[in-house]
Amino acid sequence: MTVFIRRWASFLACIPFLSLSACGPKSQAPASEGSKPNARAATPPPVPAELWKEFSGERAFEHVRRQVECGARPAGSTALEKARELILAALKESGWFVELQNFTDSTPRGPKTFCNIIARFPESPGKTAPVSTQKAIVASHYDTKIFSTIEFVGANDAGSSTGALLELSRTLALDPAFASQFELVFFDGEEAVQQFTETDGLYGSRYYARELRDSGRSKQFRFGILWDMIGDRNLNITLPSDSPREMVQGLLSSSQALSVRQCFGILDRPLLDDHIPLNHVARIPCLDIIDFDYPAWHTADDTLDQLSPASLQTVGSVTLHYLKQLLP
Ligand SMILES: [Zn+2]
Repeated sequence: MTVFIRRWASFLACIPFLSLSACGPKSQAPASEGSKPNARAATPPPVPAELWKEFSGERAFEHVRRQVECGARPAGSTALEKARELILAALKESGWFVELQNFTDSTPRGPKTFCNIIARFPESPGKTAPVSTQKAIVASHYDTKIFSTIEFVGANDAGSSTGALLELSRTLALDPAFASQFELVFFDGEEAVQQFTETDGLYGSRYYARELRDSGRSKQFRFGILWDMIGDRNLNITLPSDSPREMVQGLLSSSQALSVRQCFGILDRPLLDDHIPLNHVARIPCLDIIDFDYPAWHTADDTLDQLSPASLQTVGSVTLHYLKQLLP
């Protein structure tokens, strides 16, 4: 994530992105059959009336810890593969079907392969998850920025939102009919290989948004929510100034309803992040929930001790409360 260059908006709106080619197989990996041995016979557990209360900051934090333990996780690294395996295992455990969106793009350091992770939930047990029924996207990036001078483990910048999204997947699964309306996306290659330009950075979200647009799937989505850097123990959410207005109001109302309004504010400028291709290429209104007031951003100090489960809890439950208002 970096400070938005205003030129970007018009650039994104006017010219098509790089032509990227899919190089890897797409796969739909069903949940392990062994995980639900009595699915047909058992009565399904009751759906929680206030789903947002089920989101656990502690559980999210554990996922963050495991991501951080993989070490620096830049695109194409072995550490990122390990991080991806952890994500896949957690999604499958909660019953999500996973598609791996592999592609190659040229970068300032030559061609690189990237892998977005897309998760969908079946409408009823024992069924697969179709690709045509989802109405909303919740996303995070899971790669960390590459540095040659420091060991950058990105606890907040990639770790926090990745861990929270995994906890969200567990929480949503408690309400299958609700969960089936979502597409959860873990973007690869959000970080620039060198410096953010029109063609360096946002690799995963640019590819995903273009696929949505070109396949016609973008029409089925009403909105998207992006999480980025949401674990700072001094939580101060800074919604970019060009965020979709109605979504800002809705999110702030939810923060008010949960008595954490003081943690949410609006930044005095736009930000360049993965929501931009969704807004401008796929044309899906997307809100970037980000805390850009983070002194350790892109430094060796972006470590686990900067974060708190309480902050993850706040963002997770407010977002879920808001999602319940949007898709009751
Ligand atoms: Zn970053």
